[in-house]
Amino acid sequence: MLELKGKIIRVDLTTGKINVFETEHFYNFLGGRGYGDWVALKEIPKNTEPLSEGNKVVISTGCFTGTSLPGSSRISLTTKNVLSGGISYSSGGGNFGPELKKAGFDAIIIEGKALSPKYLYINDSNIELRDASHLWGLTTWDTEDIIKKELGDESIKVLSIGPAGENLVKVACVMIDKAHALAWGGSGAVLGYKMLKAIAVKGNGTVKIHDRNLFNDLVKSYSHVLLSSSASAALKKGGTHGMAGVGGWSGKVPTSVRNLQEEYWDSEKSKKVSEEAYKPYEIKRTNCYNCPLSCLHYYEMERDGEILSCEGMHANSVRGFASNWDIDDPFYVLKIHSLCNKHGLDVDGVSASVAWAIECFEEGIIDEKDTYGLKLKWGNAKDLVKLVEQIVYREGFGDILAEGVYNASRIIGRDSYKYAMQIKGVGINEQGVHSHKAWSLGIATSTRGSGHLTGSPQTENRQIPNEVGKWLFNCEEAGIPGSYKGKGKLVAWYEKYKAIIDSIGICYFNAGWYEVALADIKHFTRMYKAFTGKTVTDEELWTIAERIINMERAFNTVHAGFTRKDDYLPSRVMEQPLTVGPFKGEYIDREKFEKMLDEYYQALGLCKESGLQKRETIEKLDMDYIIEYFESNGIQI
Ligand code: SF4
Repeated sequence: MLELKGKIIRVDLTTGKINVFETEHFYNFLGGRGYGDWVALKEIPKNTEPLSEGNKVVISTGCFTGTSLPGSSRISLTTKNVLSGGISYSSGGGNFGPELKKAGFDAIIIEGKALSPKYLYINDSNIELRDASHLWGLTTWDTEDIIKKELGDESIKVLSIGPAGENLVKVACVMIDKAHALAWGGSGAVLGYKMLKAIAVKGNGTVKIHDRNLFNDLVKSYSHVLLSSSASAALKKGGTHGMAGVGGWSGKVPTSVRNLQEEYWDSEKSKKVSEEAYKPYEIKRTNCYNCPLSCLHYYEMERDGEILSCEGMHANSVRGFASNWDIDDPFYVLKIHSLCNKHGLDVDGVSASVAWAIECFEEGIIDEKDTYGLKLKWGNAKDLVKLVEQIVYREGFGDILAEGVYNASRIIGRDSYKYAMQIKGVGINEQGVHSHKAWSLGIATSTRGSGHLTGSPQTENRQIPNEVGKWLFNCEEAGIPGSYKGKGKLVAWYEKYKAIIDSIGICYFNAGWYEVALADIKHFTRMYKAFTGKTVTDEELWTIAERIINMERAFNTVHAGFTRKDDYLPSRVMEQPLTVGPFKGEYIDREKFEKMLDEYYQALGLCKESGLQKRETIEKLDMDYIIEYFESNGIQI
């Protein structure tokens, strides 16, 4: 049996001290997001400013990261959210996580603040902080190239921040291998504040497994289901760009149009930025560590001597920079995506901020005096590119947008708040928020603030048959986008499932999100036994998932004071029916939403009235530390 202890690197940037320790808490929460939440809960005191020495960043592999399990590339980043003041977690692919495992480590905790720019270099058991003054100001791409060159090893894996993080842009992210974002919550700004430019890792070991043969056998049967599914075939064929980018292949997949005003974009415009339209520019398909799906495109385009060469344009970039800003020029969409990757900007946060600014400009709330001469009109790609560059360097109007959409609307005032599409202070760049009811609820209740990658199911997009919905989720209408029935329970189910996926360290696309036939927790309980030698039941795994969600909700209550009122959607979605497209007339009916929310709270044992945690639920989950956590912060439950 494996010794169930995670090996953790703790780096204090203030003192320069590096310490390695082992802890059972890593496996108690499966690793990844679960372990990150545990550290955040225990080590980030209430009233800690997100951009301060006291905030911490936990970069954590999952227990299965770096194994033969398909998509086991994932690493989580957890920190106090710069935008919401609550928790922030994100999951990133690429090759960094598996390399950290090979170096013999499960996670890194970063604390304090360096006096000058540093980067962390991990070479098996040799760990050192190095000067990064020469890297400060560089893009994530140049940073990675230079680090590899100076360390004389092209196989080193690097995660880094770009100028956006250095300039404390609140929608800045961390990039892995130049193309995979650890987005959300302004994580890039947190590292920028701490003056940690990058982490480079080289590992020469292997991931220890208790019963490798059995583990590999289980992976084989899991892979068989994965690879024989139609969802995987579709991902393999077109990536998320093809499946869900602005209309998808059918032209009818919902998107976000002009700041979430509609979900169906003009079909002629859609065609211009479709995956098919980009085919002539596709150089190759790429993948993260050990992923058979290779969902990533590598595009190269040239115009007037300017060459764009960029990997990883997912559906959210296409939606966020094309339909949400009304740009139908594929060159500009790729250009903005590439700007974000290079400079370390979170695609979703930028999309929401700029869409708000355009709508405010179009409505006459702001004008060229506010924007320093930029004409923020729908589809005015040239000026919108300039604006993105200004966000990176906090210049001109970009300085306001660098605060994120919610804060920007507070700064501008003038009734601009009603155009700020955000939840818990975090911007929305989403498809189907009016029309797909469970999808919307998952976005509303996400503990990290908006985004579908917490509890939104794919069942509606895939329109699964009623009998499958009943069989898998006890929700007959799981596949009907417009139905509210049973969707509260369905979202609670997916929220728990995603907490497990983020903690074991695999990509959601390789799990039971797109392919519901894989949405059976048994796969992982069996693998966990083979991997560790320790038996875990399905029920125990679900309990861990509930604990993860409860740690996040407790953190949010203490740090941000979130209650039921923070689990709502923007009023536009609840008051303004769609006027065009296949979902014409759809919106989120407030009364039905309330009932769905009640059902969701009930499924998670939360208080329906307040949205807060109940003592009996916490006790049932054996989480005395949460009760102590509340009490020590002056909260009675
Ligand atoms: S499906 Fe795509 S994002 Fe997920 S691991 Fe594979 S290549 Fe990476």
